[in-house]
Amino acid sequence: MSKEELMEGIAAEVAVCRRCRLWRKRKHAVPGNGDVDTEITLIGEAPGRHEDVKGLPFVGAAGNLLDALLNRIGLSRKDVYVTNIVKCRPPSNRDPRPDEIATCTALYLNRQVQVIRPTFLVMLGRHSSAHILSKVGIEVKGITRVHGKVYEISPFGFPAFAVPMFHPAAALYNVKYKSMLESDFEVLRSELKKHAY
Ligand code: URA
Ligand code: SF4
Repeated sequence: MSKEELMEGIAAEVAVCRRCRLWRKRKHAVPGNGDVDTEITLIGEAPGRHEDVKGLPFVGAAGNLLDALLNRIGLSRKDVYVTNIVKCRPPSNRDPRPDEIATCTALYLNRQVQVIRPTFLVMLGRHSSAHILSKVGIEVKGITRVHGKVYEISPFGFPAFAVPMFHPAAALYNVKYKSMLESDFEVLRSELKKHAY
C-alpha cells in the first residue's frame, strides 16, 4: 500500500473512533492533513472549535498564524503534514487529559508518524512537546525551557530532529510569545538548511 492509502486508512478509523471519552462531544474527528511524503511533520495539541466543525487541523485563527509562520521560512501547508496528539476536540477547549493522550497517540499518532517517517518533528505547544520527549525519557518542566532547542532522538523508532515550539494559540494573545515562536521557526529554517532540505 502507498503512504496515501495507509494514511487514508488511519483517517477512516479516526473518523468513527470511540476509544476515549472525547468522541461524545465532537462534531468531527480531525485526523490531520498535508503531504504524506514530507520530511516535516507538525504536531499540535487538539482540535479547537473551527477544526471540530470542519474536520481539518489548524483552520482557525491559530491556523492562520501557523500559515504565516511557515510562509516566513519559505514553506506552505502543502509542504508539511499537520496533525495533533488528540484527534477530537476537548469540551470547551480544556487541556487533553493524560489518558486521552495515551489512548489516542497509541492508536493513531504513532502510526501516522511511522507512515511518514519525517526527518523533522515540530511539536507545537507544551502538551505535544512533553508527549514526544517523554517517549525518550525527557521530562519537560515547561515549554519556556525547551522551545527552540533541537533534539536528535528516535521517539518513533527512526532518527529524527525534534523541535519543541510555543503553541500558535499562545502567540495570538501575547506578542512576547509571538516573537519567540517566530524565532522557533527560524531554528527550523536553519536546521532544514543545515541538513540540505
Ligand atoms: N490548536 C491545535 O493544537 N490544533 C489545531 O488543530 C487547532 C488549534
Ligand atoms: Fe478516538 Fe482519539 Fe477521538 Fe479519543 S480523541 S475518540 S482516541 S480519535
